[in-house]
Amino acid sequence: MTLEELKTWLDENMPGSYRENEHMKAHTSFRIGGPADLLLIPADVDGLEKVVAKVRQEGLPLTVIGNGSNILVRDKGIRGVVLKIGNALKSMVCEGDRLIAEAGVSLAAVANKAAACGLTGLEFAVGIPGSIGGAVYMNAGAYDGEMEKVVRSVTVITSEGHRTVLAKAEMDFGYRHSCIQENGAIIVNVELQLAKGKQQDIQCKMDDFTNRRIQKQPLDVPNAGSMFRRPCGYFAGTLIEEAGLKGYRVGGAQVSVKHAGFVVNSGNATAEDVLRLIGDVRRIVYERSGVMLEPEVRIFGE
Ligand SMILES: Cc1cc2nc3c(=O)[nH]c(=O)nc-3n(C[C@H](O)[C@H](O)[C@H](O)COP(=O)(O)OP(=O)(O)OC[C@H]3O[C@@H](n4cnc5c(N)ncnc54)[C@H](O)[C@@H]3O)c2cc1C
Repeated sequence: MTLEELKTWLDENMPGSYRENEHMKAHTSFRIGGPADLLLIPADVDGLEKVVAKVRQEGLPLTVIGNGSNILVRDKGIRGVVLKIGNALKSMVCEGDRLIAEAGVSLAAVANKAAACGLTGLEFAVGIPGSIGGAVYMNAGAYDGEMEKVVRSVTVITSEGHRTVLAKAEMDFGYRHSCIQENGAIIVNVELQLAKGKQQDIQCKMDDFTNRRIQKQPLDVPNAGSMFRRPCGYFAGTLIEEAGLKGYRVGGAQVSVKHAGFVVNSGNATAEDVLRLIGDVRRIVYERSGVMLEPEVRIFGE
């Protein structure tokens, strides 16, 4: 099947669900990225399941994104189909001390819902700008928390197209790692195990974390969070700063002057600018400290 044939199938089966040649800079927090051949935003889990089955059955390339807050899309864009979960699958509910959310709900909304229900455990997530699906995929974490600590089970569509529930023990969580990074499944629903807490304490902790972010992170300029994984025994930002690279620039890409662990798009940066800057930073930090930084941000496209 060609993309043209897929479009005809979508027009018949899921009208209005896709956009052609959609610039990914509109769908990433970095505000960088060339066009996706077809950007698909499924309305619900059934629609998602149906379209994934079709795309996989026809052997078309498929890329999944959540809210686009941890990705760099190259300048020539993404061939095939990009499935954006972050704008759909938005329902969530508290049941006792559990919270169940569809993959597209923003992490901030889930954290706020938990607070409103008097549930503690998710305060760390309030300022992480991704979807809960992306957060589970990345095992996102901050301050005293990590998704691993609160996930009870995850419903996925497997690479064979079946809907199945994975218990936490099957998720193989590690530092910014989950088994989904290897098995190609798509997260559709997440069940969190939280604990009863005092609403005022929960809110207080969330406000503290939010203030710390405002003080330390370049939240007023497009970026994709920490560019590099934390190397064992070091902090990437400190190594970069010690190498004299705070503020270092390639084209429109710049090592943040506020937090050297972040690379920002200071205006019309291309993916090429960011990739060249990453290459320079890795080389210079390695020469100075002997530590090779590894990107945390996921890189897609041509
Ligand atoms: C200002 C800022 C601050 C940040 N702070 C933090 C922080 O403190 N801690 C932290 O861990 N991260 C942080 N991040 C990074 C980012 O917000 C997290 O990694 C977030 O969890 C990514 O979620 P997302 O929905 O945006 O995923 P995306 O960026 O869209 O995707 C990330 C990866 O997840 C995959 N993916 C997304 N959704 C699904 C799904 N439903 N099923 C299968 N795969 C999926 C994608 O294929 C991709 O490989 C920050 C980013 C920014 C911009």
